[in-house]
Amino acid sequence: MYKVCKFGGSSLANAEQIRKVCDIMLSDPSRRVMVVSAPGKRTREDAKVTDLLIALANARISGYDGARELQDVLDRFGSIAAELELEPSIMAAITADMDGRLCQDCSNSLRFMDAIKAAGEDNCARLVAGYLQGIGRTASYVDPRDAGMFLTEEYGNAQVLPEAYPLLARLRSNPGISVFPGFFGYSMSGQVVTFSRGGSDITGSILAAATEAHVYENWTDVDSVYSVNPTLVSNPHPIMEITYDEMRELAYAGFTVLHEEALLPAYRKGIPVNIRNTNNPTARGTMIVRDRVNFDGVVTGIAGAKGFCSLNMSKYLMNREIGFALKVLQILADEQISFEHMPSGIDSLSIIMRKDYFTPEKEQIITKRLAAELGIEKVAVNRNLAIVIIVGEAMARTVGVTARAANALSKAGVNLEIINQGSSEISVMFGVREEYCNYAVKELYKEFFQR
Ligand code: ASP
Repeated sequence: MYKVCKFGGSSLANAEQIRKVCDIMLSDPSRRVMVVSAPGKRTREDAKVTDLLIALANARISGYDGARELQDVLDRFGSIAAELELEPSIMAAITADMDGRLCQDCSNSLRFMDAIKAAGEDNCARLVAGYLQGIGRTASYVDPRDAGMFLTEEYGNAQVLPEAYPLLARLRSNPGISVFPGFFGYSMSGQVVTFSRGGSDITGSILAAATEAHVYENWTDVDSVYSVNPTLVSNPHPIMEITYDEMRELAYAGFTVLHEEALLPAYRKGIPVNIRNTNNPTARGTMIVRDRVNFDGVVTGIAGAKGFCSLNMSKYLMNREIGFALKVLQILADEQISFEHMPSGIDSLSIIMRKDYFTPEKEQIITKRLAAELGIEKVAVNRNLAIVIIVGEAMARTVGVTARAANALSKAGVNLEIINQGSSEISVMFGVREEYCNYAVKELYKEFFQR
């Protein structure tokens, strides 16, 4: 057995949490790779180390010395090092590391920002490896550059390069525990580049895929993934097993347990992802797998997300016009807008997009082009749209799920603006007014989980 484990910021927020995560690693000899985030918040009001680092980088980019911001970062690491009773040389190394980063030229602000942001994970990994060595365990800090974590040179939004995988596979021959900093890697030209925020999840998934791990354990601060947002429903139903596809659909509509891009590397290799709770390590957590064997109920999860809009167009005999949809989508592509769904009728077509992309300025340009280039007589925009989605692999072989959902919403007085079911039949999406979003989710939850 070989396991890659990733620990999030709340699992590393202070010395007590770090001791817990090290105990978790040591309690199972198959846990061989430990991917760490930067220390997160200790209390609700506290700041994450990554946010302290962003403030520091911004101060330097704006021409200030950032002395106070630097002190905040060093204080966080210093208090952890002191509580873990680490050798003073570790703090000297972290201070030198920060000085080295800050000496870099900040005229390319994106490049500078990434070099500073990466310090949270990098130094956290040094602290954790130092602690494990200090208590006499075989553990080593892994430098992502030496290991081969090569990424595209897209600052703040990097992607892994295919050539990284065979290099990272060599980790498997490291003795003991390899402590690997999450969130960043190096471009081929040697620059530090980070993934988007929350990207240590991606690092863990890449390493699990590269080393062909038996499981990728993602340790966070909840016992499991729940069937519905736990802030909307008390004691929600825990999900024991869920497929990658189901998880992807729920993440799309607001489930935030894992970074959106983190499933892909594990998915390609079919490596199960186990969401676990650092503060309750005996809980089995949620298994994200390719094929489910356990089904308890036809619906796995329900989610809702606001912030959508629809562009609704109609034209007499639209269905006869070859290439009509292609031309509409070409206009959107020209304007760099990605669309989310495209339900259609005989002579009508709706495009659902995120409001952030379809700004009022874009709306003006696009509606003008639709009229001029496609002769569309009627265009209407609805900017008050939320999507509510019910997800479950078992839905494809169960009759009447959509009817039950639509019935529950109709009884609750929620008007359905759009209904859409993808060909995979694992989800059904309803478009509702934004003010009904949470209410609709709760009503659907009652229907499928509380009857
Ligand atoms: N520390 C980074 C962030 O806060 C990455 C991570 O924690 O996954 O976004």
